[in-house]
Amino acid sequence: MLALVKTSSGPGLSLETVPDPRLEINDVLVRVHKTGICGTDLHIDSWDAWAATTINPPLVVGHEFVGEVVEVGSNVYDFHPGDLVSGEGHVVCGLCRHCLAGRRHLCAHSIGLGVGRDGSFAEYVALPMTNIWHHSAGIDEEVAAIFDPFGNAVHTALSFPVLGEDVLVSGAGPIGLMATAVVRHAGARHVVVSEPNPYRRELAIRMGATIAVDPRERDLGDVMRELGMVEGYDVVLEMSGNPRALRDALAVMAHGGNMAILGIPTDEVALDLNEIVFKMLTIRGIYGREMYETWYKMTVMLQSGLDIRPAITHRFGFRDFEAAFAAARSGDSGKVIMDWRQ
Ligand code: NAD
Ligand code: ZN
Repeated sequence: MLALVKTSSGPGLSLETVPDPRLEINDVLVRVHKTGICGTDLHIDSWDAWAATTINPPLVVGHEFVGEVVEVGSNVYDFHPGDLVSGEGHVVCGLCRHCLAGRRHLCAHSIGLGVGRDGSFAEYVALPMTNIWHHSAGIDEEVAAIFDPFGNAVHTALSFPVLGEDVLVSGAGPIGLMATAVVRHAGARHVVVSEPNPYRRELAIRMGATIAVDPRERDLGDVMRELGMVEGYDVVLEMSGNPRALRDALAVMAHGGNMAILGIPTDEVALDLNEIVFKMLTIRGIYGREMYETWYKMTVMLQSGLDIRPAITHRFGFRDFEAAFAAARSGDSGKVIMDWRQ
């Protein structure tokens, strides 16, 4: 099969012919239709410090995908050729305390698809059946291709109640954009998006933001007063990974406010803990998706009118992967999709 491979330590990816994935007895083999490009794929492509210490080439990269089942292992009864599916990209151990208790997202030993095992930027991908999500009828195929990052957005956005609350979304990358639509759908009053990139601020408005501001030009406290908010932001979704954004958000949070942090800073971040103590804030880290409560919530919100399609801005055939990666890297993009049947 054809696959996008990190062939050796160092920058770059190449389209290679590699053996089809081997199917174990509990596995499902999927013919990949469409994939989404994630920041993780960009890190692996450019071979930054994280990639150099994490990735063992050769590796088929990628983890966001939708496709159809073509074959199943001898233990698998619930999936059938032709089923439209996506995959949960965290393959958990199944043996630790959290896995045994059904809290699989808390597994400390999970292995990432396209990070610690061969991924989905390929014509075929194999995963254990416990990592396969069967799509409901009527789910748009491009949206299905990005259930993984959509799940990051939903997991973060629904960490705290947002009905009637004022929400600050820090960072309108693809995940912040989707989270904006989710908190709007979930009944937030004001959704303020903070994002330096004008292309993404424009998208944020289309995703349902009340206002989208450039944090270099607008003070978040002024925005709050302009909207008639009195106490401060009730809920903050940190989706930038930028230390400055984190500090700016803490300064404008309401007493008793809640912050969910999804963004991954590259270095340690210095914070004034007094902001957290005296405002009695709750801060929660978010990694991945809940298996499979988040997947269920994504499905039912789409079925009840949530539309995340404006967050998808670019589409390429897989042979144009260099142009697709460049679009994702430019910042003037939302979600970038590659089609593996073109
Ligand atoms: P992205 O890098 O495309 O988006 C981050 C956005 O933050 C960019 O648009 C950037 O312009 C903006 N930004 C930069 N400085 C800012 C500031 N001071 N204030 C407000 N915004 C600022 O990333 P993404 O794919 O949307 O992912 C969002 C974050 O979540 C990234 O940090 C990513 O590494 C992380 N992530 C975490 C998980 C997880 O499981 N925890 C999963 C996927 C991604
Ligand atoms: Zn485990």
